Amino acid sequence: MIKVRFAPSPTGMLHIGGARTALFNYLFAKHNQGEFLLRIEDTDQSRSTPEAVEAIFKSLNWLGLKHDGEVVFQSQCIERHKEVAYKLLAQGRAYYCYCSPEELSKMRDDARANKQTPKYNGMWRDMDPKLAPEGVKPVVRLKAPQNGHTTIVDLVQGEVSIKNEILDDMILLRADGTPTYMLSVVVDDHDSGITHVIRGDDHLNNAFRQYHLYQACNWEVPKFAHIPLIHGPDGAKLSKRHGAVGTDAYKDMGFLPEAMRNYFLRLGWGHGDAEIISDAQAIEWFTLEGVGKSAARFDDMKFTNLNAHYIKTASHAYLLEQIKPLLKGLTPEAETLIIKGMAGLQSRAKTLVDLAWGAEIYMHKPALEDAAKEKITDETALWVNRCIESFSAQEEFSEEVLMEKTRKLAKHYDTKLGIVASALRIALTGRLVSPSLFEVMSIIGKNETLKRLEDFLKD
Ligand code: GLU
Repeated sequence: MIKVRFAPSPTGMLHIGGARTALFNYLFAKHNQGEFLLRIEDTDQSRSTPEAVEAIFKSLNWLGLKHDGEVVFQSQCIERHKEVAYKLLAQGRAYYCYCSPEELSKMRDDARANKQTPKYNGMWRDMDPKLAPEGVKPVVRLKAPQNGHTTIVDLVQGEVSIKNEILDDMILLRADGTPTYMLSVVVDDHDSGITHVIRGDDHLNNAFRQYHLYQACNWEVPKFAHIPLIHGPDGAKLSKRHGAVGTDAYKDMGFLPEAMRNYFLRLGWGHGDAEIISDAQAIEWFTLEGVGKSAARFDDMKFTNLNAHYIKTASHAYLLEQIKPLLKGLTPEAETLIIKGMAGLQSRAKTLVDLAWGAEIYMHKPALEDAAKEKITDETALWVNRCIESFSAQEEFSEEVLMEKTRKLAKHYDTKLGIVASALRIALTGRLVSPSLFEVMSIIGKNETLKRLEDFLKD
């Protein structure tokens, strides 16, 4: 069975790149009826925090990327990592190295002076351990091949080769006996039966070293798929400089998880010209062949437009649930009005924040905006007065009737409907933008409409 994993280091919130890696792993697993595991790589205790672990869980949950099985915490597997290192030592595939920091730095300097890649020169590989200096705690290093090439057939990058001479014998256990990331990651992937390692291509170099560790352990090497990183619209690696990089920031800005899944999927993966891709289609279509080799560009505008699409097509009840946390003091009556007005609201909103802002007009009359205030003229009150007169006499308060009434009024005074509508909009909503006024008035009803109009005149 195909098994993949998402293995974040909990040092902060789940960022866009991590979320996209998680999504690709998730879709690959689902497409192949495999398993999607979650491993928290928390061995670096100085940088990992429980808050970050929580934030990752929360974001993955919000994004709908449910993992299979129990979460693995790497820090709980340390004894096993050490055991593997000691076994390699016993088999002569790893060795103790007693180099001091000074010796190592001299090695690097010498290599640089000779125009070679700075690296550890393997001096303790074949040295008699009896020569070990006293009182020095050794590190454990892997005996990696020093000649020839290592080739990885990466499912995204294709065949990638490097000369073994540029790899030095990597450390498996530090002098204090703790395992290094390289050791932990390989042991955990092996122990969990991971068949495909799908991750950012910033880990491609690690894959060569990890490959040798698999070989040394006589373990099957998983298939690797290193996906290109995400860049900003300017082509530079995505960073805080480009704005928000955390998934939670986009959640707070009012993005829907389904829009995020769809947009992140399109970051570096394609299926013909398809832009709007449902979850079911994503699972059906996702293969690693569809992942491009070049960096994807994150485009806020495209993401926002896609979000607007998902808002436009979502069910009214779902949208109400999504905006509820943003609406303070929401009553059941107002909920009913918002649902009635949702079609008009959702067609204008690009984010849930926009949508909640729009929905406010069904809860109460929002405070007069400065921009609307500036548009108030002597005529505004006149029109509001005339509307009050015209609407008061009206029994049926439907959209059609109200439109008809307002049209007639404009015609009667030989003015444009827009002039009357704009005065009405300011008086009813305190804003310059809203769904159709006739719709708003018919939804809030006659009493509330007249009350708002009269209050406007009083203010
Ligand atoms: N923990 C690593 C990271 O967050 C990922 C390691 C891996 O996927 O192999 O970058």
